[in-house]
Parts: sequence; structure tokens; C-alpha cells
Amino acid sequence: MECKHSQEWMSAYLDEELEASTRVQVEIHLAGCAQCAQTLAQLQALRTRLAGHAMRYAAPAHMQERIHTAIRAQRQDRPVHTVKPWRWNWLAAGAAGVAATALVLIAAWNLPIRQRGDLLAQEVAASHIRSLMPNHLADIVSTDQHTVKPWFAGKLDFSPPVIDLAQQGYPLIGGRLDFLDQRPVASIVYQYRKHILNLYVWPAAAPDMAPQASSRQGFQLLRWRQGGMQFFAVSDLNPQQMGAFSLALRTRLDASPGQQATAQTR
Ligand SMILES: [Zn+2]
Repeated sequence: MECKHSQEWMSAYLDEELEASTRVQVEIHLAGCAQCAQTLAQLQALRTRLAGHAMRYAAPAHMQERIHTAIRAQRQDRPVHTVKPWRWNWLAAGAAGVAATALVLIAAWNLPIRQRGDLLAQEVAASHIRSLMPNHLADIVSTDQHTVKPWFAGKLDFSPPVIDLAQQGYPLIGGRLDFLDQRPVASIVYQYRKHILNLYVWPAAAPDMAPQASSRQGFQLLRWRQGGMQFFAVSDLNPQQMGAFSLALRTRLDASPGQQATAQTR
């Protein structure tokens, strides 16, 4: 069995949905493939985390207000569609359903890069909001980069850069494992005055990219690539403050290549 198939079947394997022969094949592969075994462990850890937390929280009043404002704004933006009455017969409805499903699938596979980026921005904003809920901000709470960085070792297949920016006005709060873009990522949590800043980091194959700003649900996002890593910063700072944070971080990253993110070779 190839890794490709083993990874495809991993969810079903965890759910005990595989038939016996496939299950055995997956188990044989897992026994001999460290990479897939690690993916399985990460998936299991994620499930345990999700199962261990009550997934419903009452949002604080200021967040509820912000969400309601965002929803109202979106409703006002949305064009009004008039629906014409349509005569259905079941066969046509069935065919239309199949066609619609196919279209959705084709659309999902062929999403332009920009739109995929938009989905990712949406994911990042949602993850940031989740992190602000009680007890979700940091798995490791420490202002010391020498405590936070090693904490990620063995939990991710890369070593994220953890930079102390206290001198620049952004003390470290800690770190957290998260899941974005269909992979486990590091979140490094900073503070600026009373504001929380999540910095998401994961390996990127693409070349370096200058920071690009956007906003989602009232939060400012800034993404860039540097030294083989994708960075995504999000907070309720204003765009200028976000730019200043990114500049401080990028300068320190350039100045300390030892702190550059490194892919762990296993
Ligand atoms: Zn494998």
C-alpha cells in the first residue's frame, strides 16, 4: 500500500469503518511507515482534543455584537434574487440534483487560487475567534521562547520559529496546536497592549511572498511567506499596527537564521 492510500483511509480506519482486509493492509503500512504513523497520531490527538472540549460556548457580549454587526452588513451587501416558479417532474429534479452536485464538485476542484486563499482567510479568522474563547488561547502558556519552541517538537513535522518580540512591544503569551489548510499548524500567540495576536505558521513550498493584508469578520489578517514557511497573522489591531508587527517579526527572522523555521528530517 502506498502512503497516498493509507492517508485516504485513515479517517475511516479511526472510525472503524474499514472492512477487515483493508484494515489489515492499513495496519501493516502503519507499522512500517513512520510518516503515516505520525499522521495517524496527529489525527487521533486532534480528535481527542475535539472530543475533550465542550464545543459550545456562549460568546462574550462584545463578540456577539461584533458577529451580529458582521451578519447585518453581509445581508445588506447581498443582491436580492427573484425566484421564478418552476415546473418539476421527479426525473428532471433527480437529473438536476445530480448535475448540481457535479457542478459543486467541479467548482470545488477548480476553485481559483484567489478563492482558495479567501477560504483560508475565513478559516484563519474562525480559528482566531475560537482561540479567544475561554481556555482555548494557548496549550503552552509562557513568555519564554525557549519554552514555547521546544514544546512544539514532536507535535508537528516542522519546527516553527518562535521569536521573542517583547522589546518591540509584543510579549509572547504562548503556543497552540491548530488545524488549518487541512494540516496541523503552529499558532504562536502574542499580545499587543490589550490585544491578542495569533501568528499561524506552517511549511510552504512556494517562494517568499511580501505581506498581503485583508480583513474578515472585523479582524485584520496579514499573510506572507518567508524562508519556506507560510505566516498568517490575525488580530483586532488596525492595518498599520499589523504591518508594524509583521515588520518587527520579519526583521528578526531575517536577522536570526538559527531561528528560521526548519523542516525536521525524520
Ligand atoms: Zn505511509
